[in-house]
Amino acid sequence: MGQEGMGYTSGKAAGGGGAGGLPMSAARARGASPLNAHHRSRKISRTFNNIKITVLCGLVTILVLRGTIGLNLSLPSQPSDADALAGAKAVEDIDRILREIRTDSDPADTDLDAAATTPINATSLTASEAAAAYAAAVSNYALGPKIHDWDDQRRRWLSQNTGFPSTAPDGKPKILLVTGSQPGPCDNALGDHYLLKTTKNKIDYCRLHGIEIVHNLAHLDADLAGYWAKLPLIRRLMLSHPEVEWIWWMDSDALFTDMAFELPLHRYDNRNLVIHGYQDLLFDKHSWIALNTGSFLFRNTQWSLDLLDAWAPMGPKGFVREEAGKVLTAYLKGRPAFEADDQSALIYLLLSQKDKWMDKVFIENSYYLHGFWAGLVDKYEEMMENHHPGLGDERWPFVTHFVGCKPCGSYGDYPVERCLKSMERAFNFADNQVLRLYGFGHKGLESPKIKRIRSQTTRPINDKENLDVKAKMS
Ligand code: UDP
Ligand code: MN
Repeated sequence: MGQEGMGYTSGKAAGGGGAGGLPMSAARARGASPLNAHHRSRKISRTFNNIKITVLCGLVTILVLRGTIGLNLSLPSQPSDADALAGAKAVEDIDRILREIRTDSDPADTDLDAAATTPINATSLTASEAAAAYAAAVSNYALGPKIHDWDDQRRRWLSQNTGFPSTAPDGKPKILLVTGSQPGPCDNALGDHYLLKTTKNKIDYCRLHGIEIVHNLAHLDADLAGYWAKLPLIRRLMLSHPEVEWIWWMDSDALFTDMAFELPLHRYDNRNLVIHGYQDLLFDKHSWIALNTGSFLFRNTQWSLDLLDAWAPMGPKGFVREEAGKVLTAYLKGRPAFEADDQSALIYLLLSQKDKWMDKVFIENSYYLHGFWAGLVDKYEEMMENHHPGLGDERWPFVTHFVGCKPCGSYGDYPVERCLKSMERAFNFADNQVLRLYGFGHKGLESPKIKRIRSQTTRPINDKENLDVKAKMS
């Protein structure tokens, strides 16, 4: 299938605001003199911000109450100049505070960074010199206290807690689907709207297949913000849910588009990491799009904790992430120059330590565990004409992933209108498969409006089709 099938052009946004709308340059290298006083002043400024928000909310409430239910008994009935001024001031304050929440930046961070780090000039380095510099910078990074005997700990826990088995009653291993998004609001309201739709889509899939779901908004490790946030999160969830056999990460911008397809877990019996990609792109081409970290599964094992530990060191934002990005760009084919991203770092790790990891990694491409949106979204009508859900591959893609669209941010690699229209199509294509269970369907793939597709019955329980979810879906 090759690169076309992967359909990945530039992928991660190069530079710009990056995931989560956090300014990439305003970051602090881990261990680069994080002064206590600095943290204290941050805390004080946060508390001050909270107070400001509270006062502002109070003010807005009073203004709104006055305007809507006439809570103005002792006040003049016509708005005075002072009122208008106060209103304008409130709007201005709301805008400013929203901007502050969105950037989560602290000017002091930037100053400290500049003082504490000396950027390497990538153009003057060979790949091996850059690698050595990077190795020195990351040598003391860890996701958490090193755990050595997780398999034993977990086995013991499972034997003592038989009420929480790692398999479902039907014998299938327990899966936890994990997704997440930035802690603050998107850069625009449509971003939040599509975040809701992609989340609803995941809830639907999980409900239909007995999978538990987590949507995380927190940055468990402040250094691993943005697309790196998934690493500490996956580790935390493995340790907190020993009953879960598989942790399945899925990006917020990825949608299930085959609601009937199920993971062929039996294929992965001796594997601990399942990820979409291509062996030849990885080992022959060293391509930066050989794998896609928008949808992958980790088995809850010591091996996975070890891999996360080995994967994380390029992630800390600021100096390390910037420098690691130079190593990755020097090493991986097709990679634009930008800070280290989780996907390139994983590819780099598996390439450079192939013997250590690859026997437990399953590179999947027999179906779209991740499917690049641009090659799929215009073919949905054709698929509906010729095929049916349950196939998972190019005939009816399991996952459609909006790589490079950054619907929640402002710096995507594709025109916003094209991205949003395509996301709407993917959502409705998937939602049709859900609505169909209840006798409805969208009027068209670009329409949020629905129509009835089955006549109603007075004996819904007796109507076998009404309850046979699986049969109706495919
Ligand atoms: N993400 C997160 N917290 C954040 C920012 C991003 O959990 O603060 C997740 C989110 O699910 C997002 C993913 O990281 O989909 C990867 O980023 P993105 O999808 O923008 O990268 P792309 O797929 O375009 O390369
Ligand atoms: Mn993504």
